[in-house]
Amino acid sequence: MGQTTRREFLKGSLCALCEAGILVSPLSLAFAGQKFNPSDPHVKEAYFYEKLKNKRVQCNTCPNRCVVEPGQRGKCRTKINLSGTLYTISYGNPCTIHADPVEKKPLLHFYPGTKAFSLAVAGCNFWCLNCQNWEISQTSPDKTRNINLPPEQAVELAGKHKCHSIAYTYSEATTFFEYMVDISSKARKKGIKNIYVSNGYISQEALDRLCTVIDAASINLKSFSDKIYWKLNGGHLEPVLNTLKTLHQRGVWLEIINLVIPTYTDDLEMIKKMCGWIVKNLGPDYPLHFSRFSPMYKLTKLPPTPVEILHQAKDIAGKEGLHHVYVGNVPGMGDKVICPGCKKPVVKRRGYTLLSVDIKEGKCGFCKQPVSGRWE
Ligand code: SF4
Repeated sequence: MGQTTRREFLKGSLCALCEAGILVSPLSLAFAGQKFNPSDPHVKEAYFYEKLKNKRVQCNTCPNRCVVEPGQRGKCRTKINLSGTLYTISYGNPCTIHADPVEKKPLLHFYPGTKAFSLAVAGCNFWCLNCQNWEISQTSPDKTRNINLPPEQAVELAGKHKCHSIAYTYSEATTFFEYMVDISSKARKKGIKNIYVSNGYISQEALDRLCTVIDAASINLKSFSDKIYWKLNGGHLEPVLNTLKTLHQRGVWLEIINLVIPTYTDDLEMIKKMCGWIVKNLGPDYPLHFSRFSPMYKLTKLPPTPVEILHQAKDIAGKEGLHHVYVGNVPGMGDKVICPGCKKPVVKRRGYTLLSVDIKEGKCGFCKQPVSGRWE
């Protein structure tokens, strides 16, 4: 299953805005460049930070733990220190909204065939050389065309569009943590699920809070090497592994995405180690998606991932014991969920269209073997 490109979701955003009706007024579109003021509804005090001497602050939302001088911003560009208080500048102010098939997140074992109301705020705590959404991830929320969408309106809009879930996606959800958590808790009360789509680079304290309100996570495990994490993404491996373990322990449904980039993350030995770690620490039942790289952003000189490498990675993962391994961004792959017992297809899709589900009460409709996921 492919991931959404910026072109697709900008197009989608406009469609969603038009359909939504309540959001099409130009008055509701805010352009930045304005001075930030704590009384602005889009400026909200950060949930996780501490005050230091001389009005400096330390943000504790993600493992970067930026120490921010007065008037300055953190690495993600979404948090600002105003006179010794840390604020998010993007609260209730996403740059895109769209109703996507949940399979596009990509989640293949989470309520198949449902729609996820997807939203993003500009900014990211990584700087991946291959980012496909760099035009919003590598800028700040005051440089994008935004929509006024307070949490209660986001939930209302998701309900109006018959979305089963809300996904925090496209850029990096952790960097709009406050907005995500507030929407999620309101959505829960209305019976709408919440999906965290992320690089998994979040502090333990923020994640603990998030786990109280989310239902599923799609986590990009970029590689299994700290050296590559720093060179390719500007982060570290260990915090991401901790995130995966916490999500597992807290009972959040989890699917892991690993983008296989030629010369960076296509080392099959490293992939084998990664799969071994997943089986040992998380068990064999969470889906792992090997995703095909396309030349992008600062890696335009690399070729697309040979499909053969993706198949080799899939074979390795199977031999390491993983039950559900998919190849993403390649047409026709990931169209079936296979029962780990009788090996019959229990979910069939064509692209993003759901054709059939043969799972009852979490068990294969043919042999009654449990199939991991959230189905009912
Ligand atoms: S969320 Fe942003 S400001 Fe906070 S620690 Fe992470 S990168 Fe720094």
